Amino acid sequence: MDGRHYINGEWSNTGDGKIDVMNPATGEVIGSVPNGGEQEATDAIEAASAAFPEWSKTTAYHRADLLMKWHDLLLEHKEEIGEILTKEMGKPLAEAIGEIEYSASFVSWFAEEGKRMYGRTIPASKEGKRIQINKQPVGVVVSITPWNFPAAMMARKMAPALAAGCTFVAKPAKMTPLTAVKMYELAIEAGFPKGVINLVTGSASKIGKVFTSHPDVRKLTFTGSTEIGKELMKQASETMLNLSLELGGHAPIIVLEDADMELAIEGVIASKFRNAGQTCVCGNRIYVQQSIAYEFSKKLGEAASQLKVGNGLDEGVKIGPLVDKDGYEKVEKHVQDAVEKGAKVLVGGDGRTENNAYFYNPTVLTNATSDMLVMNEETFGPVAPIMTFETDEEAVQLANNTRFGLAAYFFTESMSRGTYISENLDYGIVGWNDGAPSTAQAPFGGMKESGVGREGGQEGLEAFLETKYISIKV
Ligand code: ADP
Repeated sequence: MDGRHYINGEWSNTGDGKIDVMNPATGEVIGSVPNGGEQEATDAIEAASAAFPEWSKTTAYHRADLLMKWHDLLLEHKEEIGEILTKEMGKPLAEAIGEIEYSASFVSWFAEEGKRMYGRTIPASKEGKRIQINKQPVGVVVSITPWNFPAAMMARKMAPALAAGCTFVAKPAKMTPLTAVKMYELAIEAGFPKGVINLVTGSASKIGKVFTSHPDVRKLTFTGSTEIGKELMKQASETMLNLSLELGGHAPIIVLEDADMELAIEGVIASKFRNAGQTCVCGNRIYVQQSIAYEFSKKLGEAASQLKVGNGLDEGVKIGPLVDKDGYEKVEKHVQDAVEKGAKVLVGGDGRTENNAYFYNPTVLTNATSDMLVMNEETFGPVAPIMTFETDEEAVQLANNTRFGLAAYFFTESMSRGTYISENLDYGIVGWNDGAPSTAQAPFGGMKESGVGREGGQEGLEAFLETKYISIKV
């Protein structure tokens, strides 16, 4: 499958040559997209800017109708898009289809939520005054999304932006642009008018520079690494761009001695090994209370070793390849470093590479300590290091001892201990007995260096709205 840009209602393939798209499970080239740059980004922004006045005046009901058509088409084609997603990204097909369903859920939820862009009136302190607060779409929105959720990261930006009445320019990740192209084909079929939705593939740095400097752009929404997020934040100061940044995480999972063991194992497997550990909310480090550490580790090891590794299109595969060589080497480095510093490999600890495909086996490490890389840096791989703790206070302190603050998880059956822990974790998302909290109707996002803003929920719509205060003297 070859992709193209979609700019001002036209498909095009201009740019500096092509970018090949590779299947990380086989190393084969499966398609390409044009290598666009400044020109394509500028054209797309100007198309979005020209379309904004008319689109922003349509009713939320009309926009919801179009969004619902897109939603239905996404679900009708979920197997087909899922297969493209697995081929370009590697995750197991069932997870890829699940991602399309998850993406569609954002589209339908925001189609509805767009109808609730309420303003308000406030009693004035002086006679003859009316204080009115209006909400209006922020304007042209540009989006940059990563490879680990090629469908969902774009959908959860695009759906609320369109529902709010903004026009949109997407730049999908270089490694996974074909899912976005297919989703655009369906959005076009749903009937979004010319210029309202635009897609540019190609050089991230060149496109990013235009996104952050063009005066017509009002909002940048980005998901990716903290490092690139900081770079974009600097660049965005040029035009005082409104920003939403979903950045890196380093999620702790705390398992208390009174946890429901089965639920905890299930939750840890879901949080840690989904997408081969390549999500920003994946549990990265596990703190288990000393008294249950042996039993927990043994059970987690057993469960992890049953996860089948392979090509995501093959039956029963639960762990696909890592996205590329760098990703694989990072995982190897984290495991090696942990072992050198005293960790024990309970299961896994190795992988295999063939023809540019990089598979790492689900790994459980015990005897982890705070000085290990795996306990401090995002591993983005199927590695679960276990460290023990004695008290709840100590667990919270260990969990918070990081510059990240995206997601944290804990398992306990105790209301009082759970309340203490949930209220003291410095994280934007907290899963209590829940390894998979992300959902369209709830705000997703991080504290500290994990980002700015929220996606999903009311906050996810608010991110694409401006607040206007109108003072009326009557
Ligand atoms: P990841 O580890 O998810 O690839 P990155 O932050 O490197 O995280 O990339 C996330 C997205 O940001 C990708 O679409 C990538 O192409 C894009 N990107 C990378 N570098 C830049 C940059 N300098 N300016 C704008 N976008 C960038």
